[in-house]
Amino acid sequence: MHKKTIEHKLRKLKQELFDIGIPIPGSIQIVYRRCGKKNCWCQQSGSKGHGPYYIWYKREQRKLKTQLISAEDIQIYQEWIKNREAMEVLVKKIVELGALYAVDFNNTKINSKKVHR
Ligand SMILES: [Zn+2]
Repeated sequence: MHKKTIEHKLRKLKQELFDIGIPIPGSIQIVYRRCGKKNCWCQQSGSKGHGPYYIWYKREQRKLKTQLISAEDIQIYQEWIKNREAMEVLVKKIVELGALYAVDFNNTKINSKKVHR
């Protein structure tokens, strides 16, 4: 790919990155839990248990942390997670283009050295 093309693509991708909203780590899981009380309905076989509970799982300093999210906030949290995923895809593309640029940069120098010999 031509140097100018790479520069142009990099600018576009970085602009896209700039326009992404709030990014958050982790994922949301929907869980049902049995409470452990002997006579509770949730102990019956076939019962999923209490819930649904929406749990945000995220890793902080290598520890898995959880946070309960209210049902009404689920969509916004999922959107924030999608923002982070989109951001990661863009960063990957940007770095790949950076690598192409650097390879080209290096080849140009090597070729020009050969020419001067
Ligand atoms: Zn129960």
